[in-house]
Amino acid sequence: MAINVRNSGEKINLEELLEQGVSLSEHTTIHTGGKADWAAYPSDFEELRALLDFAKEQKLPVTILGGGSNSLISDEGIAGLTIITTHLTRLHISGELFCVRCGLSLDRAIDRSIEAGLSGLENLGGIPGTIGGAICGNSGANKVQISDLLYYVDYMTLDGKLHRMQTHADEFSYRHSPFSGSADTILYEAGFRLIPTTQTSDVRLRKEEAKKRRKEDGQYDNPSLGCVFRNPAGMSAGKLIEDCDLKGTRIEGAAISNRHGNIITNFNGKATSQNILELINQVKTVVKQKHDVSLETEIQFIGRW
Ligand SMILES: Cc1cc2nc3c(=O)[nH]c(=O)nc-3n(C[C@H](O)[C@H](O)[C@H](O)COP(=O)(O)OP(=O)(O)OC[C@H]3O[C@@H](n4cnc5c(N)ncnc54)[C@H](O)[C@@H]3O)c2cc1C
Repeated sequence: MAINVRNSGEKINLEELLEQGVSLSEHTTIHTGGKADWAAYPSDFEELRALLDFAKEQKLPVTILGGGSNSLISDEGIAGLTIITTHLTRLHISGELFCVRCGLSLDRAIDRSIEAGLSGLENLGGIPGTIGGAICGNSGANKVQISDLLYYVDYMTLDGKLHRMQTHADEFSYRHSPFSGSADTILYEAGFRLIPTTQTSDVRLRKEEAKKRRKEDGQYDNPSLGCVFRNPAGMSAGKLIEDCDLKGTRIEGAAISNRHGNIITNFNGKATSQNILELINQVKTVVKQKHDVSLETEIQFIGRW
């Protein structure tokens, strides 16, 4: 296998970076899904570029996975190279500009911003996953969307080139970003314009309260992907599902949460992604019959579906 060389002269040994047949169920919060043909965890720009070169040479499709908290991975796995971003975690701070690599967990990034005397992200406390995943799906909670604070995104295209996009809130909408569904951009670093504060204990408290509410809500009780369906305009998907008496419905190891109609759990740890897909389809059918509303999924379907 080829050995690439960094610009600095330091060698990148692809044999050390690449793993074959990597089980992905531990890389998603619902703990289902098959194997990646190839997987790698780059920790910097050069490693990412070397991996993209390898995929290009071998004609392999590339899939990006962050924390896997919004992704349902096929039981048949993922073809080609899966790049798992969770080792891309460095950050630097310049005044009110908080710049973070896209594999850092959102929750950890919020802690680091508060430690640096910056506020703004704390309402997103407790959302699992990475900065990159949160930007792709424009994650939001407590009336804040991540795009409200975003200033720039550095992303790499499959040819290994790095680009900077100055972002504007109006390019983002409910669970949608300019990067949603894009198969050829890898978010590398994001810059947030945050608000300097001396009241860091209040900010920390707001973050911990946001997380505590989720815990009390039962969101972390069983493996899940959070909300499965997008809220149709002016409606709550969870309420529509609850009105159909679907809470608690099971297909083998997959169950609609007893507490929240829009959450499907792997309640006994034995669900397959296929079980979850079948439950999703059942919900769609019943909600369409009862309410004449076509629910759309918020989660991403990744791999050989
Ligand atoms: C208990 C629970 C509660 C949740 N609550 C909320 C909530 O309140 N609000 C909310 O918005 N979401 C919520 N979610 C959903 C999920 O946590 C978010 O969508 C999260 O931001 C996804 O990040 P991730 O890194 O896990 O993304 P992944 O699932 O890994 O990826 C999601 C998509 O983004 C792409 N992607 C990820 N990283 C990159 C990258 N660096 N470059 C290019 N593409 C990338 C993937 O290819 C995939 O298409 C919740 C989930 C759970 C399990």
